[in-house]
Amino acid sequence: MIPFAGNPLNRASEKRTDINWVESRRRDPSSFVLPMWRLQPFLAGPEKLGPPTALGLVRPGIADSLAGAGAPCIFLGLDGDQALFALDITAAKDPTKVGPLVGLGSFCEARMAAQMVSLKDAAIIAQAKAMIDWHQRHGFCPRCGAPTKMMDAGYRRLCGTCKAEHFPRVDPVVIMLATHGEACLVGRGKQFPPGMFSALAGFVEPGETIEEAVRRELMEEASVKVGEVTYYATQPWPFPSSLMIGCFAQAADRDVKADENELAEVRWLERCVARELIAGKQLDGLRVPPPIAIAHHLIRTWALGEK
Ligand SMILES: [Zn+2]
Repeated sequence: MIPFAGNPLNRASEKRTDINWVESRRRDPSSFVLPMWRLQPFLAGPEKLGPPTALGLVRPGIADSLAGAGAPCIFLGLDGDQALFALDITAAKDPTKVGPLVGLGSFCEARMAAQMVSLKDAAIIAQAKAMIDWHQRHGFCPRCGAPTKMMDAGYRRLCGTCKAEHFPRVDPVVIMLATHGEACLVGRGKQFPPGMFSALAGFVEPGETIEEAVRRELMEEASVKVGEVTYYATQPWPFPSSLMIGCFAQAADRDVKADENELAEVRWLERCVARELIAGKQLDGLRVPPPIAIAHHLIRTWALGEK
C-alpha cells in the first residue's frame, strides 16, 4: 500500500447535505474529532516518541472548546457507526500549551505524521489536510470576490453574492519512470538534497490526457522521446491538493538532456543499482525517495521486475 492511499472511512456522501444529520453526529458523544492546527494533525502520546503512534482523536465536547464558533468542521466519514470529523483550530494560540489538549499529544507536520501512524491513519490525515487547506484558501469567491460560506459538511462553498458554487479541488500530477532496457531515468531537482534522485513529475495541463502529459514532461525536462505509457497507481498527495498519477514510460533511446530551469541533473540508473538504493543502501552518494513517496514504489516495482 502506498502511504496516503487506502482511506478506511465510509465517506457517506449522501449524508453531507442533510444538515440535521451532520449536526447531530457532530454533537454525538460517540463521534470523534481530529483537531488540525496550522494544517498539522494532532497525534496522541508524548512528543518525539517515534512510530508507531495514533491519531489524537477527541470527543465533540472537547472539540467545542478548542475553536471558536464557525471554525471549519469537516465530516470525514463513518468508521463503522462512529462519525469522524476534522476541525480547523488554527485560530487557537498554542493548543499544546493552553486548554484541554495539554499533555495529551502534539501537532505534527502532515508528511512527518504520516510516517508515524498506520497506513489507514495516514490516509485520514491526507483527507483532513487537503480539505482544511482548501477551505483556508477559498474564503472568497474566485468569480466575484465576495466571501464564501462552507456547505455540505465541508464539501462545497457557496458565494453569498453571486451564488457560485465551489468544490474541493484535486490537481492531477503525472509522475513517471522512463525505462530503457535495464535502466530507468531519474532526475535531481534543484531543490533536492545532494545525491537525491527521483522519478520526473509535472502537473497535467488543461486539455491534456495523462499519457500526453507524461510524454510532454519527459520531453521538456529531459529531452526523452517516449513510446508506450502504462499506468501504475495513484497516490493522494495533500500538499496542497495533488493526486500523483504514477506511470511507466518506454524511452526510445538513452539520449537525455536536463532542462536547466527545472533540474540539476538527469541520469540513467541500472537496475542492479536501483535495487540497492531501494533497499536503503548508499551507492556513490546516490539516494532515492523514501516509501512515503510514490516515486519509491515506481522505482521498486521496476527494479524488482514486478512490472
Ligand atoms: Zn461570487
